[in-house]
Amino acid sequence: MELYELGLKEAADQIKAGKITSVELTKSYLDRIASRNEEMKAYITVCADKALEMAAESDKRVKNGNPRLIEGVPVAIKDLFCTKGVQTTAGSHMLEGFVPPYESTVTENLWNAGAVMLGKTNMDEFAMGSSNETSYFGDVKNPWDKTRTPGGSSGGSATAVADYLCAAATGSDTGGSIRQPAAFTGLVGIKPTYGRCSRFGMVAFASSLDQAGPMARSVEDAALMLRCMAGYDEKDSTSADRPLNDYDEHLAELDVKSLKIGLPEEYFIEGLDPVIKAEIDKALENFKQGGAEIKTVSLPHTKYAVPAYYIIAPAEAASNLSRYDGMRYGLRVEGSNLNDTYCKTRSAGFGEEVKRRIMVGNYTLSSGYYDAYYTKAQKVRALIAEDFNKVFEEVDVIITPTTPTVAFELGGKITDPIAMYLNDVFTTPASLAGLPGISVPVGTVKDGESELPVGMQILAKPFALQTAMQVAYAHEQMTDFKMRSAE
Ligand code: GLN
Repeated sequence: MELYELGLKEAADQIKAGKITSVELTKSYLDRIASRNEEMKAYITVCADKALEMAAESDKRVKNGNPRLIEGVPVAIKDLFCTKGVQTTAGSHMLEGFVPPYESTVTENLWNAGAVMLGKTNMDEFAMGSSNETSYFGDVKNPWDKTRTPGGSSGGSATAVADYLCAAATGSDTGGSIRQPAAFTGLVGIKPTYGRCSRFGMVAFASSLDQAGPMARSVEDAALMLRCMAGYDEKDSTSADRPLNDYDEHLAELDVKSLKIGLPEEYFIEGLDPVIKAEIDKALENFKQGGAEIKTVSLPHTKYAVPAYYIIAPAEAASNLSRYDGMRYGLRVEGSNLNDTYCKTRSAGFGEEVKRRIMVGNYTLSSGYYDAYYTKAQKVRALIAEDFNKVFEEVDVIITPTTPTVAFELGGKITDPIAMYLNDVFTTPASLAGLPGISVPVGTVKDGESELPVGMQILAKPFALQTAMQVAYAHEQMTDFKMRSAE
């Protein structure tokens, strides 16, 4: 077994026990990245020198007898977390070459837990997309089939983890960007309750929805990674001031016999690939055998989630992205006067999808249309949250497919924005309601020549992520899903 195949927990344990050093492990990843990243395009920036420096520091702490929680384990960071002194692009030409003078709270927390940074991962531009194809820095390939997308917007993080180019990675999820790429690459991806991870230093897309989370090859690794990322932060006014769970230490505490699972009928609909349904059914059968109660529930406003999301998210994006004007930081294209400079900068700096969202957002926020679109969408959002509240009076978790299909071909949907948006049907409702959700792999299916993973989504009440994790863990114990081995 190669060192880069170790999981986060395993690697941390071995480093702490003095069986391997962080420098050895870091080198093993850096070598693999050097031989594969040009093709896979998982990383936009690889910071080899910094990684080795951090690894040496880690090894020193181990030697001195004061190792931290994930001491010395190399991780990858989605390129929208500001990292002091390391380029942070958010996948955009607009921020190419931008080197933040400060560190995001999530990454700061990871370094304080002993992690080593390998680099910054590729992503859809400003996290807008479901295939990673809107990135200015090229298409990321799915290691299960290199003609397919790894999903988006955290596609670089997904491929970095699934292709053993890091032990675990951070992602961000606004409408599904952790859960969907996790499903497409056979990983565990967690979107915590809104407020659980600080947004300080995260490049903003849609502030009322954006939430950081982990991507890893097992439930335990994802839980451990989240424990190291999360926590209250006074620098983010929407950050939740609640005690933090040591999630990874309570995974086996679920009593499946007393578990109540809700299956929302609105998620098992036309458009859902039957092979996905079959895989989810197998997982549910295991829970049934284990004594869990499974009941059909209804979330009647589900069908309005995609339209509401694609009004609210662009509206917030249009406001957030107004800061990129060529004056303060990022790209600047000189024009003949101030207005012309704004125009030229924004025309050159943003890609097509980002421009589309800015236009949609400004339209729905404009006077005369505000009530018809934005206010209406916010009302729908409240109804969607209300649906979930009602159902959670009866069940502990809700289980759904994560995506309607397996990973699609690169180039398959990029010219059809609506088809791309519809990929988010099962992930946007929980985002609008601020709920925690996990995607776990349930199995693989044959699609043409390739074998592709299928993801199952587990949703819980706000701040009941521990329950969802326990369900994910119980599922993991009952299934025979095997992560693709490294090539
Ligand atoms: N695919 C969705 C979008 O394009 C979600 C993106 C995300 O969660 N960042 O908006």
